[in-house]
Amino acid sequence: MIIVPESTVPELIDRKAAFDAVEAVFAAMARGDAYNFPVIREDIGHADAIYGFKSGFDRAGLVLGLKSGGYWPGNEARGLTNHQSTVFLFDPDTGRLHAVVGGNYLTALRTAAASAVSIRHLARPDARVLGMIGAGHQSAFQMRAAAEQRDFERVVGWNYHPEMLSRLAETAAEIGLPFEAVEPDELGARADVIITITSSFSPTLMADMVRPGTHVACMGTDTVGKQEVDAELVARASVFTDEVAQAISIGECQHAVGRGLKAQDDIRPIGEVINGTHPGRRSADEITLFDGTGVALQDLAVASRVVALAEESGRAVIQEF
Ligand code: NAD
Repeated sequence: MIIVPESTVPELIDRKAAFDAVEAVFAAMARGDAYNFPVIREDIGHADAIYGFKSGFDRAGLVLGLKSGGYWPGNEARGLTNHQSTVFLFDPDTGRLHAVVGGNYLTALRTAAASAVSIRHLARPDARVLGMIGAGHQSAFQMRAAAEQRDFERVVGWNYHPEMLSRLAETAAEIGLPFEAVEPDELGARADVIITITSSFSPTLMADMVRPGTHVACMGTDTVGKQEVDAELVARASVFTDEVAQAISIGECQHAVGRGLKAQDDIRPIGEVINGTHPGRRSADEITLFDGTGVALQDLAVASRVVALAEESGRAVIQEF
């Protein structure tokens, strides 16, 4: 069995490797070669924690496993990250445990890779202004990955807690882009690509704020009740997702579909665009929207890549099991 500790993961995998792994598994999902199993998520009645696991199998890449973990709100006071996760990979031929990989850094990397994949395949080629709604832990990963997809000239951002905006300003400076803090309506009026990455339960970005031709990547809504954008915006946009079943149950699409504003059949897996079986964006005026809910296969894809990189570089910790 191979162990890759959390602290080693960032030294092994970069954004390009994560992007390629996530893009490939989205394509495999749309071909029917990879599928996610039902998600388990439980309030365990201890330490206020939510614990769960997400699992799946990629028959094309031969990756079988699960990501287990959740949210422990008391962790910060102990100097630990509130979100905790570990990926377990199994040999699909024998069922034997193949690897254990720290999943915290990987979660941020694969989530950013998903929105970057959507930008690569759906945003207008001439997109120049990136809009960021949200300034939490994920936002810096999101901005770095998005910035590599188009020749952005500027970042505009808004956050519910303005004191957190410094994270966006610092990340933009690190990338070498000017940053401006703006109100949501100005953000919508100026941005060509908008990423929403908050834990909001009410919409910030309304339909009439968004210009024709914008690409919106909704990345924060991953639970029943959360909502970042107006259901009317989802109704109006051409909508793509990682997995339709998850989008309509726990993703941003839950609201538009639940209110009868959007038909489930009109929400397409992004893998169809990657595979060329769906044209994706059809015009410069179309609003495209990616509902990135986060699936197990993304975690397994990047963890599997990390294990391969650990083996190639001689950094794999091998443990008899
Ligand atoms: P975080 O706790 O570090 O940051 C939370 C963000 O949400 C901050 O920007 C905060 O200001 C904002 N926020 C909090 N309350 C708000 C409100 N009432 N209205 C508007 N904004 C509000 O969290 P994070 O790790 O950056 O994660 C952000 C979101 O992304 C969470 O909802 C998380 O569950 C989700 N997430 C999704 C995926 C995925 O695959 N789609 C993966 C990881 C995290």
